[in-house]
Amino acid sequence: MQYVSTRDKTIQVPAAKAVLQGLSPEGGLFLPAQIPQVDEHFIKEIATMDYIGRAKAVLRLFLTDFTDEELSGCVQGAYGGGKFDENNPAPVAKVGEGVYFLELWHGPTCAFKDMALQLLPRLMSVSSQKNGNDKDILILVATSGDTGKAALEGFRDLAGVKMITFYPEDGVSELQKRQMNTQKGENLYVAAVNGNFDDAQAGVKEIFSSEAVSAKLAGQNKILSSANSINWGRLVPQIVYYFSAYCDLLQKEEIFCGQQVNICVPTGNFGNILAAYYAKRMGLPVGKLVAASNKNNVLADFIETGVFDKNRDFYPTISPSMDILLPSNLERMLYYLLDESDSAVRQMMEELKASGRYTLPAPALEKLKTDFAGGYLSDEETKQVIANLFYKYGYLCDTHTAVAAGVYANYQKQTGDEAKVIIASTASAYKFPEAVLAALGKAVDGGDAFAAADTLETITAVPMPAALKELKDLPVRFGDCYEKDGMAGALEKI
Ligand SMILES: *Cc1c(COP(=O)(O)O)cnc(C)c1O
Repeated sequence: MQYVSTRDKTIQVPAAKAVLQGLSPEGGLFLPAQIPQVDEHFIKEIATMDYIGRAKAVLRLFLTDFTDEELSGCVQGAYGGGKFDENNPAPVAKVGEGVYFLELWHGPTCAFKDMALQLLPRLMSVSSQKNGNDKDILILVATSGDTGKAALEGFRDLAGVKMITFYPEDGVSELQKRQMNTQKGENLYVAAVNGNFDDAQAGVKEIFSSEAVSAKLAGQNKILSSANSINWGRLVPQIVYYFSAYCDLLQKEEIFCGQQVNICVPTGNFGNILAAYYAKRMGLPVGKLVAASNKNNVLADFIETGVFDKNRDFYPTISPSMDILLPSNLERMLYYLLDESDSAVRQMMEELKASGRYTLPAPALEKLKTDFAGGYLSDEETKQVIANLFYKYGYLCDTHTAVAAGVYANYQKQTGDEAKVIIASTASAYKFPEAVLAALGKAVDGGDAFAAADTLETITAVPMPAALKELKDLPVRFGDCYEKDGMAGALEKI
């Protein structure tokens, strides 16, 4: 199967090349030329397998130029190597009638990004070999908090790869910052950017398109690639867990095969929910996809009105990994909404660049509303959801997951939709202990995030993940901060 660029369909590459390059040279994103189709038989068959088996079965449909051995090696290494603390890397927890939380944070950095970023480096190594690449790969990452750490952990000490992570100086939680600044690994560099996530992401894109930078790197025998969800290799592992969750519900006889379920995802860069859209398009029985936002509600407005407009205030919230006004994966969605017309996507992207906004034609908006619903929650409402889930069901969730749970409850009230729902639970509550503790009505006492985490553990008796606990005692290795237009300077550090 070939991959095409959203902005130029004449650009066609096999999966290994799409993964290695990350971004198409003219700025478009790669996506599969056709979406593979599955039937109920396929779902019933993988339902009997473990996560690794399910992952191989789904990934094989997309990564058609990888051999079974290559794929097995990658998947086994990612999910079978003791990096995830449970038998099932992505277990489903039933919380109330017809509501299932898909817990995607049982990996090494306690956020859902591990699900993809434990696999991506392995896919990239194989892709590099398959392309006969003899250059070092320099990976640039812009992070709203969780991608950075997960990517650092995934690429740490990988031969032939160097990586730089940029995070917004004031846009990540204290624990997220500490996670990144204490990262071990000789091939890595971490820096802050004086700005928000969109600034960091724009800066990385700028470096990608800078001819001066590429000439310089060519001289050093290096090529650039990306570990953000603009890379297809980041998205494809995320499709797997929606299949796996459906299979788990089948196995537990919570649903029958063919029964439609809704999926609700706390959304930032539109990667995770796009993976759910692919699962639906492949034939997984999914009804509505509900995109949940915080006060940065650019997506909720887009789904409501068809107008995408990033010209608005930016709000730092208690769900910082969703503080994004320019979700890069929306471009892939546009491609489908605009009937796979690369020229129409190109035109929208030019409008976006010129004015910060674009408007969907009526039929495209119609299509969007058929598959998607949106909604958003304030910080106050988010805290109420956390308290409610804990005091009513004994279920502790993080701020991002709570946004999804609250938005879904509102959606259900408004529409009367009675389908069962899978809610993507994207981080451990212990990544945001101050906000979660405050939500439970407990004083934070002016201590640091670790003190808050200790208190949270005492109150809830839910164990804090060891990987977060140990951070307190790790030496801080990084702390440089760059201006938005000076980010290329970080390249000198590695
Ligand atoms: C990254 C992240 C999100 C947003 O996911 P996207 O794929 O960017 O939409 C939501 N919650 C958490 C905890 C995250 O780390």
